[in-house]
Amino acid sequence: MAELFYDADADLSIIQGRKVAVIGYGSQGHAHALSLRDSGVDVRVGLHEGSKSKAKAEEQGLRVVTPSEAAAEADVIMILVPDPIQGQVYEESVAPNLKDGDALFFGHGFNIRFGFIKPPAGVDVCMVAPKGPGHLVRRQYEEGRGVPCIAAVEQDATGDAFALALSYAKGIGGTRAGVIKTTFTEETETDLFGEQAVLCGGTAALVKAGFETLTEAGYQPEIAYFECLHELKLIVDLMYEGGLEKMRWSISETAEWGDYVTGPRIITDATKAEMKKVLAEIQDGSFAQTWMDEYHGGLKKYDEYKKQDSEHLLETTGKQLRKLMSWVDEEA
Ligand code: NDP
Ligand code: MG
Ligand code: MG
Repeated sequence: MAELFYDADADLSIIQGRKVAVIGYGSQGHAHALSLRDSGVDVRVGLHEGSKSKAKAEEQGLRVVTPSEAAAEADVIMILVPDPIQGQVYEESVAPNLKDGDALFFGHGFNIRFGFIKPPAGVDVCMVAPKGPGHLVRRQYEEGRGVPCIAAVEQDATGDAFALALSYAKGIGGTRAGVIKTTFTEETETDLFGEQAVLCGGTAALVKAGFETLTEAGYQPEIAYFECLHELKLIVDLMYEGGLEKMRWSISETAEWGDYVTGPRIITDATKAEMKKVLAEIQDGSFAQTWMDEYHGGLKKYDEYKKQDSEHLLETTGKQLRKLMSWVDEEA
């Protein structure tokens, strides 16, 4: 079972005694910087020239400097810029300003796990990753609660890296909910696998295949959209609240019977064998390398896939149908 840590296990004064730089002020960056500040931590935000988020950070009372200045001033540097550009930001702004005893923090292990960032031996390398979007992290903190976090240490130069990571997690409210200890390897590989095989890739492909099967059989696209995409939210909400059991408690017996007998015909042993291949390509670094080559090569295939799906009947149908549902936009 996982090791869990709560408020009583974390000493906030450790992070209060450090100077923290949060590089990036997006979904995670804003939540970390504001909550650390409200926890009595000395925070500065590092943003590039012309950053869209600079005005917002300043409006919210934070001091914004360049990423290099932030890294030079601070002894804990949290990198919260998009993963594909972290290597470049690290090389240009962070690495030249790292001193022995500093700590390098991440919200996701991608760049460390696959070697796109190679920190020097004298610095602690830690991860504090909230298991939720930044806006939820911030809102929960403000309400006196927290979003569970996972924390990891890749390199323990000082011998105190995990205590520092727990202290940081406490500063953003994470230990109020619970912090699970993990490793950079486990976090990165499971995160990539989950989003590819199940959450994003698997689900999108399942929805499209179901929709296409119905429309190719002559059913109206509007009806197929409701059955294969729209109603998915109801099912996922039930799973989120109470697992498969609550979902099955809520649906009809007919739906439940179909779930048992048809589900395994759709997600077959062949699907699972393919999932194992996907996992192997994540583990051996080939997925990460292909993605970085695509990103830095100008995102040609990425844009092509994006365009193809945006023109899919599922999407054009959904755009029209959602206009009938006044509450849908408001929920976003
Ligand atoms: P966002 O895309 O929301 O924000 C990125 C921020 O970085 C923006 O403020 C952007 O500024 C800024 N930025 C872009 N380029 C530079 C640069 N060269 N120098 C300094 N700042 C720059 O990122 P996320 O918060 O989604 O992701 C950050 C990290 O957190 C990633 O490692 C991600 O995997 C991880 N994470 C994200 C979660 C999430 O919920 N989104 C959940 C858990 C982890 P501008 O406004 O100008 O574009
Ligand atoms: Mg992810
Ligand atoms: Mg139905």
